[in-house]
Amino acid sequence: MVDYHLHTARCCHAEGTPEEYLAEAETKGLREIGFADHFPLGLLDYTPRAQVTMTPDELEGYIRQIEGLKNSSDGVAVKIGIEVDYLPGTEEKLAALLKKYSFDYVIGSIHFMEDWDFTHPVYADSYKERDLDQLYSTYFELVWNLCRTGLFDIIGHIDVIKKFGYRPDGSLEHYWSETARVLRDTGTCIELNTSGRDAPVGEFYPHRRLLETCFENGVSVTMGSDAHGPGQVGRYFTEAAELLKATGYRELAVFDQRFKSFVPLSW
Ligand code: ZN
Ligand code: FE
Ligand code: FE
Ligand code: ZN
Repeated sequence: MVDYHLHTARCCHAEGTPEEYLAEAETKGLREIGFADHFPLGLLDYTPRAQVTMTPDELEGYIRQIEGLKNSSDGVAVKIGIEVDYLPGTEEKLAALLKKYSFDYVIGSIHFMEDWDFTHPVYADSYKERDLDQLYSTYFELVWNLCRTGLFDIIGHIDVIKKFGYRPDGSLEHYWSETARVLRDTGTCIELNTSGRDAPVGEFYPHRRLLETCFENGVSVTMGSDAHGPGQVGRYFTEAAELLKATGYRELAVFDQRFKSFVPLSW
């Protein structure tokens, strides 16, 4: 089992040291972990209302620290990833920035629509004022455009728009089919992100139907706990692995220097 979505205290809303995350991974018997802390939004000239990423001057230190851990760990393999916000209009700038660093993989995530940090609990009341059909359609357009940039290996918590339990009435199947098609056509890997279980919505990302549609389309999958504390490493992974197997998946995607390969889906 691999956990490719771990944070560090640099993002200001996580705690613990990378060594403690690694120790937890060893305890849980994971074969591989990857840190994917929040890429500095300052480098994309964006200043959110709440500080949710590391600062530009912390990026080098982050990479060095995880590199050190990678070299000192003899059991669990350690990868250096990054979770980057997809902000339309920043594609060229981001492409140039990503070239400067040798990440093992890049997770693309959406946390902002216009200036709204819609995954942040402090701003969740704003859902009440929204047309949910319009909101979902805007959100999934962003998801598809994120994939089409070709800048990201993995898309993070792909249906995080459901985080606080707001969903339009009626079937979402048309979103699932189009999303799976775009993932397939762009070669983007989906992440089974277990953190949604601890969010108000109480379920993993993605929705089970989207996962099934991804499998039918040959989309590769990896796993992430989105741990913001050492105790969250590998959370609900037994259940998540069962879900993946029931869906039909037999292997997980792993990355090295941005090249994808596969490992068996087992502990
Ligand atoms: Zn975070
Ligand atoms: Fe995220
Ligand atoms: Fe995250
Ligand atoms: Zn995340």
